[in-house]
Amino acid sequence: MLVDLNHRSGFVYGRAADALPPLGARINTLLDDALMAERAGQRPRDYLGASRIGEPCARRLVYEVTHTPPDPGKELEGRSLRIFAAGHVFEDLAIRWLRLAGFDLRTQTREGGQFGFETAGGRIRGHVDGVIVAGPEVGIAWPALWEHKALKASSWSDTAKKGVRLSKPVYFGQMQIYMAYLGLGSALFTALNKDSCELYHEHVPFDPATAQELSDKAVAVLRAADAGELLPRIAAHADFYLCRFCPFAARCWTEAQP
Ligand code: SF4
Repeated sequence: MLVDLNHRSGFVYGRAADALPPLGARINTLLDDALMAERAGQRPRDYLGASRIGEPCARRLVYEVTHTPPDPGKELEGRSLRIFAAGHVFEDLAIRWLRLAGFDLRTQTREGGQFGFETAGGRIRGHVDGVIVAGPEVGIAWPALWEHKALKASSWSDTAKKGVRLSKPVYFGQMQIYMAYLGLGSALFTALNKDSCELYHEHVPFDPATAQELSDKAVAVLRAADAGELLPRIAAHADFYLCRFCPFAARCWTEAQP
């Protein structure tokens, strides 16, 4: 008798398969639920991360640092957690490639911890991807901060075209704060294109004025958070491009402007 390999299984665990969402959706729901549960078990940050200080809207940072719930439907999804995790894998690859090419890239202190800093009584903290202490002659004086981002193709192309300061001000700000607190004179920014594995590298000098401005902003955010206050909005209208992507937009535009 011939076997029909094209038939569809009519039942899954006793239920008609057609009554269930497609297989992919069911498995992804399981994965995302597991990732969200894992995240829910982690202690929320009780500090302002240096990776966020470059966020252009200080009001949004107050929402973040006070753990204000995002607008309904704007909560972090399991898919975002998968993107974060994939970023770490790409970063490990970039570290391996740079080391293979002769860059003495350190990603851990002698004690085995991450390089980082904390200030304001531990309420502002940052952990850096690495520090290159020596390497081939490429026009950069070592040591230098190393910061890595894995980007989707369109975002990577924009960064490669405009440079990190214009294209990714949050990352630029993050590097300035790290350099200020670690006493480093410049950074090597590496962006990996997740589609093509192309690499973009940019030398980013320390800019003390920007670092000071960001440090002042961080202090203002913490002061407002402690006082239970909000800071002014970044825009006059809710259709400003940053507000359209902000997870606090509905709340923000109904709450009073200081
Ligand atoms: S909606 Fe706009 S102004 Fe309000 S917190 Fe978000 S980015 Fe800032």
